[in-house]
Amino acid sequence: MAWNSDLETHLELTSGWLCLDFANTMDMHAAEEPQETLHDYKDLVAWAETRGVLSPGEAEGLRKQGKREPGQAEHVLQESIGLREALYQIFSAVAAGGSAQPQNLEQLNKALKHASPNMSLVPKDRGFTWAWEGAQPSLGSILWPISQSAAELLTLGDLTRIGECAAEDGCGWLFFDTTKNHSRRWCDMRDCGNRDKVRRYYKRQTAKLS
Ligand SMILES: [Zn+2]
Repeated sequence: MAWNSDLETHLELTSGWLCLDFANTMDMHAAEEPQETLHDYKDLVAWAETRGVLSPGEAEGLRKQGKREPGQAEHVLQESIGLREALYQIFSAVAAGGSAQPQNLEQLNKALKHASPNMSLVPKDRGFTWAWEGAQPSLGSILWPISQSAAELLTLGDLTRIGECAAEDGCGWLFFDTTKNHSRRWCDMRDCGNRDKVRRYYKRQTAKLS
């Protein structure tokens, strides 16, 4: 597989971490009616390709395999959605300063057990990194680096930097705050941050008029 666990590559992800980006594959996650973005196995492959988990060749291979084994592809999709919800619950709780529910941790541990036999420690620059070298991509292999990323963040990351978008409409996007003074509040300043600014502006204007 193309993905290497590497702290530098995390910076290219929207949220800062692969596991958080995956948790964000449900739009409006904290709203009453969240919106699914993973409708079929192909969506999962497309997501993994854009995040660099799969090379274009690997993605094409898995798309074909998914077509040949539709039952198994659907099973992997449901498993992915289950893992994603567990990750969202875990990191959302951590962002709020709480602790993870045992059933969510159990789900992550189950995914880690599938991933760990395929992990190899390889040299990288002057250190080491986890890689999936030699591992044959299978339908479910997309979940390996995701669960590994979650384990890495939970055990080695600064958990006080995990945040959830503060937008009142229930955006619910998770992110890793890399600002110096821990000041990030939004998934994206151009999106939710801007909407909030507009909302506050109108509130002030209506307050002035009344
Ligand atoms: Zn947001």
